[in-house]
Parts: sequence; C-alpha cells; structure tokens
Amino acid sequence: MTDLSRREFTKAAAIAGLGGLAAGPVAWARRLQGADDGLFDWRPVAGRSGALAGFNGGGNALLLVSGGQALLVDTKNSGLGPTLRREAEAAAGGSTLTTVVNTHHHGDHVGGNPSFTFDLEVIGHAQCAVRAEENAEQTLSGATRILDFISRAEEPPSQRVIDEVQAYVDGAGEIGAEAFAPTRRIEDDVTELTVGEIELTLHHPGNGHTDNDLFVHVPALNLIHTGDLVFHNLHCFIDVGAGATTRGWERSVQAMIDLCDADTIVVPGHGELTDVDGLRAQIEYFQQMREFVDEQRDEGSSKADIEAMTPDMFEGRGFERMGPANLGKMYDELEAEG
Ligand SMILES: [Zn+2]
Repeated sequence: MTDLSRREFTKAAAIAGLGGLAAGPVAWARRLQGADDGLFDWRPVAGRSGALAGFNGGGNALLLVSGGQALLVDTKNSGLGPTLRREAEAAAGGSTLTTVVNTHHHGDHVGGNPSFTFDLEVIGHAQCAVRAEENAEQTLSGATRILDFISRAEEPPSQRVIDEVQAYVDGAGEIGAEAFAPTRRIEDDVTELTVGEIELTLHHPGNGHTDNDLFVHVPALNLIHTGDLVFHNLHCFIDVGAGATTRGWERSVQAMIDLCDADTIVVPGHGELTDVDGLRAQIEYFQQMREFVDEQRDEGSSKADIEAMTPDMFEGRGFERMGPANLGKMYDELEAEG
C-alpha cells in the first residue's frame, strides 16, 4: 500500500473504533488489502533494536523484542486480536511474547485483548479496566462490522485473516466483558518494566485523552509510544465522557516533550511516525483551536455557529468528522472556565 492509503486506512479503522462511525465497505476494501498473508503494516522504528510499529486496523501498536522476550503495546480493533497475536509472535521470532500494555480503554486499543488476557499479563491503568469492561459489548460488536467489510472487499486480505476474524465472530458469545480488561491494573504515575534487556516506563500523566492514559517511554531506544495523546496530522477524539480535557491533554503532551530530544522517535496513537515536533503540533492543535473559539465567543457566536465553522487549522487534517465536535467541546471547556 502507498503511504497515503496506509494513512487513510488507519483513519477508517480508528473512526470505526472511536466513534462507531463506520467507514464504507469500499474504503475498507482498499485499506484492508494488506500484504500477502499479513494484515498489519509492521515497520521497524528504531533501527535494529527490535522495535516494530504496527499500523492500520486500529490504534498504532508497538512491539518491543529483547533478550528472548517481547512486549506489545495495544491490541487494535475487536476481531483482529487473533491475527495480531499471530503476527506479533511471528515478528518476535524465537522470543516469547510475555506482556501487553494497553494505553487506554478505547476499543481500537483494547479490542484485541481477549486474544491476550487469558494467558498473558496485560497491563493497563485501573480505570482502563473499569471502562474496558463497561464498553465491552460495544467493542465486541465492532468485530462483526470488520468481518463484513473484509468479506466484501474487492481485494480482501488473505483467507487466513478472514478465517481468523470469522472464527472470532463465531465465538464472540463466549467472550465475557472481563476479557477486554487489563489483568494487571496500575495507578502509579510511573511504572517500571523490563522486557529482556530493555527497561521501559509507563507514565500516567493525569487526565488527557481519557482518565486512564498511559504513555510508554523506552529510554534505551529513545522512543515514546504516546497512546492517543497524539493524533498526528489528524483531528483527535476528545473523550469528555471519560474525563478528557484539552488543558490536561496539553500537560500530558508536555510531560512527553520533557523526556524528548531532537532524535526521539514518537509513535503516535494514530497517524504516521513522528518526533518531538509531532508532540508540539498536538499542543498547537489545542492552542489554535482555543484561540479561534475564544475569538468567536467574543464576537457573540453561539456554540452551534462555531461548530459549523471551518478554521484554517482544519486544512489538510484527517479524521475530519471529529473537527466540528472538537470545536463544540472547546467551546464548552471555555464556558466552564468562565
Ligand atoms: Zn483513544
């Protein structure tokens, strides 16, 4: 797939996962073509270090392989867990996948959890566990939509992938809500982990994208997986119902910037690989939007008026369906601040 189609696929998958706004089958047909037998677009992200990012099919995943062990960050959309586990284990080579991290509870990041929680340590924030269970029914139902899309694709993924998703859908009645919840629930601001010879830290910087965000810092690789604290060149999903605020989100991104230098590799939750500039751009997104909405409020525009506007900052940005809603959320936040 071209870079553009990869981006577009990520977009379709994430929209389906986040807001239930399913992309049309034609769009999915193009996105899910994938490589020969594989579904996910795995790419090395830190030289020969054993760090691979997995794009498409949900939030970006990260696989760290070191010293005979492997750790996976995020499990993509419901229905894709069996394929994800197969591909991650294959990519890990002879190393054993021992640990999974969930960056937060959204269905495009925990949807594959039932393929991992039954026998592996799956680490997430305590509140991630609560919300993942609450949303389990909705998350689970996304698998039927994915199967429908890939089954009708003009150039579908391999039969093996279709069979895996079909088997998952056929067995969905057996999957309990708890299968989506991380098995090791953490509440500390910083949690240290080791995978083989690599040390990493999970950071819960407070409420940002949700109330259970974790980002993953791997100092030895100078690498950060942001979870959904970064939607790179995309509109983001501000999950107000799960405790999101743009002010908190900016603070959380700043906490990542504080760990970066010019060479830091940044794997965003959605969008292409970036660096510290991608982190700064996420903060600028909120600042530009806040400035725009504030000016419009001063001029007497209503929330509905503002939601119908198209600020310059929208130009060329993906996930465009989230743009108007974000203007409204920014309006509400400013109103609450007085
Ligand atoms: Zn999310």
